[in-house]
Amino acid sequence: MSDFDELPPSDRAKVYASPGVQVRFDAARCRHSGRCVLGAPEVFDTDARPWIQPGNADPEHVAEVVRRCPTGALHYLLADGPAEEPDRPTTVTPLPDGPLEIRGDLRLTGPWGEAREVPEVRAQLCRCGASANKPFCDGSHERIGWHDDRP
Ligand code: SF4
Repeated sequence: MSDFDELPPSDRAKVYASPGVQVRFDAARCRHSGRCVLGAPEVFDTDARPWIQPGNADPEHVAEVVRRCPTGALHYLLADGPAEEPDRPTTVTPLPDGPLEIRGDLRLTGPWGEAREVPEVRAQLCRCGASANKPFCDGSHERIGWHDDRP
């Protein structure tokens, strides 16, 4: 993945920049796992404004923490470094009573105005059928009380 423009478009995505790294955050895809806040609290601080300040840590560390984001809400572009490599092999993990978590070399299609595939490396995809942000999970499984054993 070499450019934020390749990612699924989102009205809620914002870019936070420092000289060494840019971080793109798509609030519509965040499921609040907190891995970013735990991994780099000096960068990801929900009490600060802006809440993402990529200049507060080494760019490589920012990138490493962004790769922990399971939903793909976070992506990065290093000024002097490689683009994120997808996991190989691709893995698909059904989360208990929740979405499918996928990491790998993905091509997603969705209701993005034109029929096109977009590359991805991390995503949590809707499994309950109720998401308003398909193909992504938006947490609706919790709202409707969806369970794995429900048809
Ligand atoms: S790691 Fe990703 S999904 Fe989890 S809270 Fe941070 S941005 Fe949201």
